[in-house]
Amino acid sequence: MPDFTSDLAARLDQIRGAGLLRQLRRIDVAQAPAVISRGRTLLNFSSNDYLGLANHDELKQAARRAIEEFGAGAGSSRLICGSLAPHEELETTLAQFKHTEATLTFSTGYAAALGTIGALVGTHDIVILDKLSHACLVDAARLSGATLRVFAHNDLADLEQKLAWAQQQVSSDPKNRRVLVVTESVFSMDGDLAPLAELVELKQRFGAWLMVDEAHATGLYGLNRSGLAEAAGVSHEIEIQMGTLGKALGASGGYIAGSRLLIDFLINKARSFIFSTAPAPAAAAAAAAGVRLVQSPAGTQLLSQLWARVTELRAALDLDFPPLPGAIIPLIVGDETRAVELAAKLAEQGFLIPAIRYPTVARGKARLRVTLSAAHTPGQVADLATALTALNLPSPNRNPNPAPS
Ligand SMILES: *Cc1c(COP(=O)(O)O)cnc(C)c1O
Repeated sequence: MPDFTSDLAARLDQIRGAGLLRQLRRIDVAQAPAVISRGRTLLNFSSNDYLGLANHDELKQAARRAIEEFGAGAGSSRLICGSLAPHEELETTLAQFKHTEATLTFSTGYAAALGTIGALVGTHDIVILDKLSHACLVDAARLSGATLRVFAHNDLADLEQKLAWAQQQVSSDPKNRRVLVVTESVFSMDGDLAPLAELVELKQRFGAWLMVDEAHATGLYGLNRSGLAEAAGVSHEIEIQMGTLGKALGASGGYIAGSRLLIDFLINKARSFIFSTAPAPAAAAAAAAGVRLVQSPAGTQLLSQLWARVTELRAALDLDFPPLPGAIIPLIVGDETRAVELAAKLAEQGFLIPAIRYPTVARGKARLRVTLSAAHTPGQVADLATALTALNLPSPNRNPNPAPS
């Protein structure tokens, strides 16, 4: 057996040598457009706090009230004695928001994916994932023990082939049963959109189930802001809607929305829900305040500020405009080490935009992932555009996955 210390040191060296070393950067203030790190002020263009709710007064006040009334910790799993009023209220609020019969919340989106896919499918079932699906969906599918197939990103013809293959598996062996298609609605590292209406049509044709992760769409799309499924008018055809409370909603936690039957089933079978302490009451209360806020006139105002900043940056960088605006703007660099150098250069100039590398994205597809927030000012966005233009990024790399028309 290798010696523990030298084994880990050698493996870390390998990661470092490949330009893939990850390190934490301490931030000494709340999430905001300008943060302080190592004594320096950096303009933050890397957060998923798209509407600036993470440090919003209404969310903080809701969290404080929940602490006063319900304490700092939940004490146990929801099924033991931790199903506190703030969790139940959050789920009622979320069900109204998503227009579904019921919702279930988890400590994170990651835990929601793991618990849900693991509960719904197992050996003898088949999961078909979009190639660019988030790590939590991939991990969940792997852990479930189901047979895994991947379809090319947003490629309906490829998905159709995989569904036809799955249908054949199901009919050729009575032990084979369920087929689950899994995708994101807004892709986290590319910012492009899944063709949800077409995906729904396809999975229905084959009698498969569909799970859509709205992590980067919740709070931003649709009249009620509940996500891209609402905007596409297909929420009710999707068996399992998932999302996080930690991005545009400004708090933390994950959710599943769907039928009462789905939620009752998950309460009984989702291991990351059953065997995990309930989230802090403050987190649940802040999330509920976030859900209310995005649907309010103040939320509409924040959303239009966000889209205005997006329009300004895309125009300044001469990027094309996709059919729907998005807060995630990836600038593809390719080489991992080069991406790290560019991120360091931007940090020297006062911009916080980490290099996103393998395994978050494919090897050779390293990028600067710029995200905008309603809290940014036009001046901050103009400064960013100037700095990015000076980097002279190769233009063909700028729009890696144009949205499907
Ligand atoms: C961030 C993210 C998650 C995980 O949500 P957390 O609440 O952060 O655990 C899931 N899916 C996608 C696409 C994400 O970007």
